[in-house]
Amino acid sequence: MLIDLHTHTTASDGTDSPRVLIDKAISRGIDVLALTDHDTVGGWEEATTALKKHPSGSNMELVLGSEVSCQDEDGTSIHMLGLLFDPNYTPLIEEFEKTREHRVTRMSRIIARLNEAGIDITMEEVYAQRRGDATLGRPHLADALVAKGHVASRDEAFNIFLHNGSKYYINHYSPSPELAIRLIKEAGGVAVIAHPLASRSGRTIKSETLLKLINAGLDGIEVDHRDHSEQERSELLRLAIEHDLVVTGSSDYHGTGKLNQLAEFTTNPHHWERLEAKANARRVVKR
Ligand code: AMP
Ligand code: ZN
Ligand code: FE
Ligand code: FE
Repeated sequence: MLIDLHTHTTASDGTDSPRVLIDKAISRGIDVLALTDHDTVGGWEEATTALKKHPSGSNMELVLGSEVSCQDEDGTSIHMLGLLFDPNYTPLIEEFEKTREHRVTRMSRIIARLNEAGIDITMEEVYAQRRGDATLGRPHLADALVAKGHVASRDEAFNIFLHNGSKYYINHYSPSPELAIRLIKEAGGVAVIAHPLASRSGRTIKSETLLKLINAGLDGIEVDHRDHSEQERSELLRLAIEHDLVVTGSSDYHGTGKLNQLAEFTTNPHHWERLEAKANARRVVKR
Protein backbone atom coordinates (compact mmCIF):
# COMPACT_ATOMS: atom_id res chain seq x y z
CA MET A 1 0.00 0.00 0.00
CA LEU A 2 1.37 3.40 -1.03
CA ILE A 3 -0.17 6.19 1.03
CA ASP A 4 1.09 9.74 0.47
CA LEU A 5 -0.70 12.32 2.64
CA HIS A 6 0.84 15.67 1.63
CA THR A 7 1.13 17.10 -1.91
CA HIS A 8 0.84 20.46 -3.70
CA THR A 9 -0.44 21.62 -7.10
CA THR A 10 -0.91 24.83 -9.08
CA ALA A 11 -3.75 25.65 -6.65
CA SER A 12 -0.85 26.88 -4.49
CA ASP A 13 2.88 26.64 -5.18
CA GLY A 14 3.19 23.26 -6.89
CA THR A 15 3.91 23.07 -10.62
CA ASP A 16 1.52 20.26 -11.65
CA SER A 17 -2.19 20.99 -12.04
CA PRO A 18 -4.50 18.90 -9.83
CA ARG A 19 -5.38 16.84 -12.92
CA VAL A 20 -1.75 16.11 -13.71
CA LEU A 21 -1.09 15.25 -10.06
CA ILE A 22 -3.90 12.68 -10.14
CA ASP A 23 -2.46 11.24 -13.38
CA LYS A 24 1.03 10.97 -11.94
CA ALA A 25 -0.17 9.51 -8.64
CA ILE A 26 -2.14 6.81 -10.48
CA SER A 27 0.84 6.02 -12.75
CA ARG A 28 3.04 5.81 -9.67
CA GLY A 29 0.68 3.19 -8.22
CA ILE A 30 -0.37 5.27 -5.21
CA ASP A 31 -3.35 3.83 -3.30
CA VAL A 32 -4.23 6.83 -1.13
CA LEU A 33 -3.26 10.39 -2.07
CA ALA A 34 -3.92 13.58 -0.13
CA LEU A 35 -4.11 16.95 -1.89
CA THR A 36 -2.93 19.61 0.55
CA ASP A 37 -2.40 22.97 -1.12
CA HIS A 38 -1.47 25.89 1.12
CA ASP A 39 -4.46 27.73 2.66
CA THR A 40 -7.01 26.72 0.02
CA VAL A 41 -9.47 24.13 -1.19
CA GLY A 42 -9.05 25.54 -4.71
CA GLY A 43 -7.77 22.31 -6.29
CA TRP A 44 -10.39 19.96 -4.82
CA GLU A 45 -12.91 20.09 -7.63
CA GLU A 46 -10.41 19.54 -10.46
CA ALA A 47 -8.74 16.66 -8.60
CA THR A 48 -12.08 15.02 -7.84
CA THR A 49 -13.24 15.23 -11.46
CA ALA A 50 -9.87 13.98 -12.72
CA LEU A 51 -10.10 10.92 -10.48
CA LYS A 52 -13.74 10.17 -11.24
CA LYS A 53 -13.17 10.44 -15.00
CA HIS A 54 -9.74 8.85 -15.13
CA PRO A 55 -9.55 6.57 -18.19
CA SER A 56 -7.62 3.91 -16.26
CA GLY A 57 -10.59 3.28 -13.97
CA SER A 58 -8.12 3.49 -11.12
CA ASN A 59 -9.41 2.83 -7.61
CA MET A 60 -6.98 5.22 -5.98
CA GLU A 61 -8.52 7.02 -3.01
CA LEU A 62 -8.30 10.81 -2.81
CA VAL A 63 -8.10 12.62 0.51
CA LEU A 64 -8.98 16.29 0.22
CA GLY A 65 -7.18 18.67 2.54
CA SER A 66 -5.07 21.76 2.93
CA GLU A 67 -1.75 22.72 4.52
CA VAL A 68 -2.71 25.57 6.81
CA SER A 69 -0.06 28.25 7.40
CA CYS A 70 0.13 29.07 11.10
CA GLN A 71 2.42 30.96 13.39
CA ASP A 72 3.26 30.76 17.04
CA GLU A 73 3.34 33.82 19.38
CA ASP A 74 7.07 34.20 18.75
CA GLY A 75 6.55 34.24 14.97
CA THR A 76 7.73 30.67 14.32
CA SER A 77 6.10 29.35 11.15
CA ILE A 78 4.10 26.15 11.66
CA HIS A 79 2.31 24.15 8.97
CA MET A 80 -0.83 22.22 9.93
CA LEU A 81 -2.25 19.63 7.57
CA GLY A 82 -6.04 19.61 7.73
CA LEU A 83 -7.54 16.53 6.05
CA LEU A 84 -11.09 15.32 5.44
CA PHE A 85 -12.81 18.49 6.64
CA ASP A 86 -16.13 19.85 5.40
CA PRO A 87 -15.34 22.69 2.93
CA ASN A 88 -18.72 24.28 3.71
CA TYR A 89 -17.60 25.15 7.23
CA THR A 90 -17.17 28.89 6.62
CA PRO A 91 -15.07 29.88 9.67
CA LEU A 92 -12.22 27.73 8.32
CA ILE A 93 -12.59 28.98 4.74
CA GLU A 94 -12.74 32.59 5.99
CA GLU A 95 -9.48 32.02 7.84
CA PHE A 96 -7.92 30.75 4.58
CA GLU A 97 -9.16 33.90 2.80
CA LYS A 98 -7.68 36.16 5.46
CA THR A 99 -4.28 34.47 5.13
CA ARG A 100 -4.46 34.53 1.33
CA GLU A 101 -5.21 38.27 1.27
CA HIS A 102 -2.31 38.99 3.59
CA ARG A 103 -0.04 36.90 1.36
CA VAL A 104 -0.74 39.42 -1.43
CA THR A 105 0.18 42.55 0.56
CA ARG A 106 3.18 40.75 1.98
CA MET A 107 4.31 39.91 -1.56
CA SER A 108 4.23 43.54 -2.65
CA ARG A 109 6.28 44.48 0.41
CA ILE A 110 8.91 41.84 -0.38
CA ILE A 111 9.01 43.12 -3.97
CA ALA A 112 9.47 46.71 -2.70
CA ARG A 113 12.48 45.58 -0.66
CA LEU A 114 13.98 43.78 -3.65
CA ASN A 115 13.40 46.86 -5.84
CA GLU A 116 15.08 49.09 -3.24
CA ALA A 117 18.12 46.83 -3.48
CA GLY A 118 18.11 47.31 -7.26
CA ILE A 119 16.55 43.97 -8.19
CA ASP A 120 14.11 44.59 -11.00
CA ILE A 121 10.93 42.57 -10.51
CA THR A 122 7.23 43.53 -10.50
CA MET A 123 4.01 42.22 -8.98
CA GLU A 124 2.68 41.61 -12.52
CA GLU A 125 5.65 39.36 -13.25
CA VAL A 126 4.93 37.39 -10.07
CA TYR A 127 1.23 37.08 -10.94
CA ALA A 128 2.25 35.78 -14.37
CA GLN A 129 3.75 32.74 -12.60
CA ARG A 130 0.55 31.92 -10.76
CA ARG A 131 -2.41 29.99 -12.09
CA GLY A 132 -5.85 31.55 -11.51
CA ASP A 133 -6.31 32.56 -7.90
CA ALA A 134 -3.79 30.10 -6.51
CA THR A 135 -2.49 30.88 -3.02
CA LEU A 136 0.35 33.31 -3.67
CA GLY A 137 3.70 32.29 -2.21
CA ARG A 138 7.40 32.95 -2.38
CA PRO A 139 7.80 30.14 -4.96
CA HIS A 140 5.87 32.31 -7.47
CA LEU A 141 8.29 35.16 -6.81
CA ALA A 142 11.15 32.67 -7.18
CA ASP A 143 9.77 31.61 -10.57
CA ALA A 144 9.49 35.27 -11.64
CA LEU A 145 13.12 35.84 -10.62
CA VAL A 146 14.08 32.81 -12.72
CA ALA A 147 12.04 34.02 -15.71
CA LYS A 148 13.75 37.40 -15.43
CA GLY A 149 17.20 35.77 -15.40
CA HIS A 150 18.11 36.91 -11.87
CA VAL A 151 18.62 33.31 -10.70
CA ALA A 152 18.73 29.85 -12.26
CA SER A 153 16.19 27.99 -10.10
CA ARG A 154 13.62 28.21 -7.29
CA ASP A 155 16.21 26.77 -4.98
CA GLU A 156 18.76 29.44 -5.87
CA ALA A 157 16.12 32.15 -5.44
CA PHE A 158 15.42 30.88 -1.92
CA ASN A 159 19.10 30.54 -1.07
CA ILE A 160 19.99 34.05 -2.23
CA PHE A 161 16.86 36.17 -1.72
CA LEU A 162 13.86 34.43 -0.22
CA HIS A 163 14.84 32.28 2.76
CA ASN A 164 13.30 33.11 6.16
CA GLY A 165 16.48 34.76 7.43
CA SER A 166 16.89 36.99 4.38
CA LYS A 167 16.77 40.79 4.74
CA TYR A 168 14.02 40.76 2.11
CA TYR A 169 11.84 38.36 4.10
CA ILE A 170 8.49 39.55 5.40
CA ASN A 171 5.94 37.52 7.31
CA HIS A 172 2.21 37.40 6.61
CA TYR A 173 -0.80 36.99 8.88
CA SER A 174 -1.66 33.42 9.72
CA PRO A 175 -3.69 31.85 12.53
CA SER A 176 -2.19 30.34 15.64
CA PRO A 177 -1.80 26.56 15.34
CA GLU A 178 -4.35 26.15 18.17
CA LEU A 179 -6.94 28.09 16.16
CA ALA A 180 -6.15 26.04 13.05
CA ILE A 181 -6.60 22.77 14.96
CA ARG A 182 -9.87 23.99 16.45
CA LEU A 183 -11.30 25.09 13.08
CA ILE A 184 -10.18 21.93 11.25
CA LYS A 185 -11.81 19.78 13.92
CA GLU A 186 -14.98 21.88 14.08
CA ALA A 187 -15.16 21.26 10.33
CA GLY A 188 -15.08 17.54 11.09
CA GLY A 189 -11.55 16.96 9.82
CA VAL A 190 -8.28 15.77 11.31
CA ALA A 191 -5.19 17.84 12.10
CA VAL A 192 -1.68 16.54 11.47
CA ILE A 193 1.31 18.75 12.13
CA ALA A 194 3.56 18.93 9.04
CA HIS A 195 7.36 18.50 9.28
CA PRO A 196 7.57 19.78 12.89
CA LEU A 197 11.30 19.29 13.35
CA ALA A 198 12.53 20.23 9.92
CA SER A 199 15.80 21.72 11.17
CA ARG A 200 17.20 21.22 7.66
CA SER A 201 14.94 24.03 6.48
CA GLY A 202 15.12 26.10 9.66
CA ARG A 203 11.59 25.32 10.78
CA THR A 204 12.05 23.54 14.09
CA ILE A 205 9.16 23.78 16.51
CA LYS A 206 9.95 23.92 20.22
CA SER A 207 8.95 20.84 22.22
CA GLU A 208 6.75 22.92 24.58
CA THR A 209 4.82 24.10 21.52
CA LEU A 210 4.37 20.56 20.31
CA LEU A 211 3.05 19.47 23.73
CA LYS A 212 0.68 22.44 23.73
CA LEU A 213 -0.68 21.38 20.32
CA ILE A 214 -1.10 17.79 21.47
CA ASN A 215 -3.23 19.14 24.33
CA ALA A 216 -5.16 21.26 21.83
CA GLY A 217 -6.32 18.09 20.04
CA LEU A 218 -3.67 17.36 17.44
CA ASP A 219 -4.48 14.03 15.74
CA GLY A 220 -1.17 13.15 14.15
CA ILE A 221 2.45 13.98 13.47
CA GLU A 222 4.15 13.90 10.09
CA VAL A 223 7.24 11.94 11.07
CA ASP A 224 8.60 10.60 7.79
CA HIS A 225 9.48 13.62 5.65
CA ARG A 226 12.66 14.44 3.74
CA ASP A 227 13.39 17.49 5.90
CA HIS A 228 13.69 15.31 9.04
CA SER A 229 16.96 13.65 10.01
CA GLU A 230 16.94 10.08 11.37
CA GLN A 231 17.30 11.45 14.86
CA GLU A 232 14.39 13.85 14.43
CA ARG A 233 12.24 10.99 13.16
CA SER A 234 12.96 8.79 16.14
CA GLU A 235 12.31 11.66 18.53
CA LEU A 236 8.93 12.38 16.90
CA LEU A 237 8.04 8.69 16.77
CA ARG A 238 8.68 8.43 20.50
CA LEU A 239 6.47 11.44 21.14
CA ALA A 240 3.69 10.05 18.92
CA ILE A 241 3.72 6.71 20.72
CA GLU A 242 3.78 8.39 24.13
CA HIS A 243 0.70 10.47 23.29
CA ASP A 244 -1.06 7.87 21.15
CA LEU A 245 -0.97 10.05 18.02
CA VAL A 246 -1.18 8.89 14.42
CA VAL A 247 2.16 8.79 12.59
CA THR A 248 2.24 9.88 8.96
CA GLY A 249 4.82 9.91 6.20
CA SER A 250 4.57 11.84 2.96
CA SER A 251 6.38 13.40 0.05
CA ASP A 252 5.31 17.08 0.26
CA TYR A 253 5.49 16.87 -3.54
CA HIS A 254 5.61 20.23 -5.39
CA GLY A 255 6.10 19.06 -9.01
CA THR A 256 9.33 20.39 -10.49
CA GLY A 257 9.45 23.12 -7.81
CA LYS A 258 11.31 20.87 -5.38
CA LEU A 259 13.24 17.60 -5.46
CA ASN A 260 10.53 15.77 -3.47
CA GLN A 261 9.15 12.81 -5.44
CA LEU A 262 5.66 11.34 -5.04
CA ALA A 263 5.53 8.61 -2.38
CA GLU A 264 9.18 9.08 -1.41
CA PHE A 265 7.85 8.71 2.15
CA THR A 266 4.55 7.02 2.93
CA THR A 267 2.10 6.35 5.75
CA ASN A 268 1.51 2.96 7.35
CA PRO A 269 -1.99 1.63 6.39
CA HIS A 270 -2.97 1.02 10.03
CA HIS A 271 -2.12 4.59 10.92
CA TRP A 272 -4.06 5.84 7.90
CA GLU A 273 -7.07 3.79 8.98
CA ARG A 274 -6.93 5.27 12.47
CA LEU A 275 -6.61 8.80 11.09
CA GLU A 276 -9.50 8.42 8.67
CA ALA A 277 -11.73 7.07 11.45
CA LYS A 278 -11.18 10.29 13.44
CA ALA A 279 -12.98 12.43 10.84
CA ASN A 280 -16.67 12.99 11.63
CA ALA A 281 -17.87 11.68 8.24
CA ARG A 282 -16.51 9.37 5.55
CA ARG A 283 -15.14 11.87 3.06
CA VAL A 284 -12.53 9.92 1.11
CA VAL A 285 -13.18 10.39 -2.61
CA LYS A 286 -13.33 7.26 -4.73
CA ARG A 287 -14.22 6.71 -8.32
P1 AMP B 1 5.53 31.05 1.60
O1 AMP B 1 4.35 30.15 1.75
O2 AMP B 1 5.30 32.15 0.65
O3 AMP B 1 6.09 31.52 2.92
O4 AMP B 1 6.67 30.15 0.94
C1 AMP B 1 7.04 28.95 1.58
C2 AMP B 1 7.00 27.81 0.60
O5 AMP B 1 8.12 27.90 -0.26
C3 AMP B 1 7.13 26.45 1.25
O6 AMP B 1 5.88 25.92 1.59
C4 AMP B 1 7.78 25.63 0.20
O7 AMP B 1 6.79 25.07 -0.61
C5 AMP B 1 8.55 26.60 -0.64
N1 AMP B 1 10.02 26.53 -0.46
C6 AMP B 1 10.73 26.79 0.65
N2 AMP B 1 12.05 26.64 0.43
C7 AMP B 1 12.18 26.28 -0.89
C8 AMP B 1 13.29 25.98 -1.74
N3 AMP B 1 14.56 26.04 -1.29
N4 AMP B 1 13.03 25.62 -3.01
C9 AMP B 1 11.77 25.58 -3.47
N5 AMP B 1 10.68 25.85 -2.71
C10 AMP B 1 10.88 26.20 -1.44
ZN1 ZN C 1 4.67 24.75 -0.69
FE1 FE D 1 5.05 22.86 4.67
FE1 FE E 1 3.85 21.30 1.97
